[in-house]
Amino acid sequence: MSTFKALMVTKDEAGTQHVDWTTISETELMDGDVTVRVTHSTINYKDGLVLSGKSGVPRKFPMIAGIDLAGVVETSAHLGFKPGDMVLLNGYGLSETHFGGYAEKARVKGDWLIKLPTGIDAHHAMAIGTAGYTAMLSVLALEKHGLKPSDGPALVTGAAGGVGSVAITLLAKLGWHVIASTGRIEEADYLKSLGAAEIIERKELSEPGRPLGKERWAAGIDSVGSHTLVNAIGMTKAHGAIACCGLAQGMDLPGNVAPFILRGVALLGIDSVMCPMPLRLEAWKRLSVDLDLKKLDAMTRTIAFSEVIGEAATILKGGIRGRVVVNIG
Ligand code: NDP
Repeated sequence: MSTFKALMVTKDEAGTQHVDWTTISETELMDGDVTVRVTHSTINYKDGLVLSGKSGVPRKFPMIAGIDLAGVVETSAHLGFKPGDMVLLNGYGLSETHFGGYAEKARVKGDWLIKLPTGIDAHHAMAIGTAGYTAMLSVLALEKHGLKPSDGPALVTGAAGGVGSVAITLLAKLGWHVIASTGRIEEADYLKSLGAAEIIERKELSEPGRPLGKERWAAGIDSVGSHTLVNAIGMTKAHGAIACCGLAQGMDLPGNVAPFILRGVALLGIDSVMCPMPLRLEAWKRLSVDLDLKKLDAMTRTIAFSEVIGEAATILKGGIRGRVVVNIG
């Protein structure tokens, strides 16, 4: 394959971003010590932002979009990888400062790569993707805080989305009583099939509320931010915690310190992009053990590479249920 297909983001002189299909050659790839033939990618919320052409995500232009990739090593000058190894990559600046996963080939730093864990193929790795790996990082953060299912229920906001769907599946498998908050009440059966024990309507949390509410859950995974996160914190039991990983409602945090200083509630920040490698490896190991692949299959759709731009608008409108795998090669 001397030339190959890629989805490129460019910026014109007026500062307007454009997303175009292009054909490039290996010599045009960025520096790195491992070349990967990309077989699968996925679509995350951040990919939606990039493909909409409006985001501040790419910080260099031109930039190949796609924050995730999985595939097979073609060449490697890195001691940890050899041709034929099956690998995955989440974040580390893909689609921001380094060419990303929406291309049939990628050249990356071997230090960013993870060998596919036992039992997880490239398709499943991208069905999990950054969204699912972030859900696992959130579960790990709650566990490391000392929380366990016997402490009380766990709230998941943005429940029918990618992070939310995987979070419900993981927490339920681990024995938590999961309360799923969704704006798509018609997806109640879907959320219950993943393991949600209770469904609440998004608007119960998304409007301005009281700083301290009735204590309803011991733990939470919030991919929504804004008033939803403030209300989630305000209804957390004393010494519980909320893992904060997203901003689907907004980036603001319009609350006060009462839950922290009067109930000892903790807010646990989750960053998937520059997460240190030992924690990534722990998360992927746990995903290979604790994520029910039948449920992952049930929440996942597969699309062709050519369809990826169309999905961007849908994810930004909160219109994608669960996860989407993009078949690249
Ligand atoms: P999805 O679009 O798949 O899920 C987001 C969900 O949030 C939607 O499905 C919807 O769920 C809910 N939602 C959407 N709009 C609103 C709104 N205006 N108010 C309240 N709820 C809303 O995205 P992902 O799951 O891929 O990502 C979720 C968030 O997490 C994003 O903000 C993303 O940027 C962030 N993220 C952060 C990471 C990190 O490293 N910290 C890594 C991965 C993602 P429902 O219909 O059920 O209400």
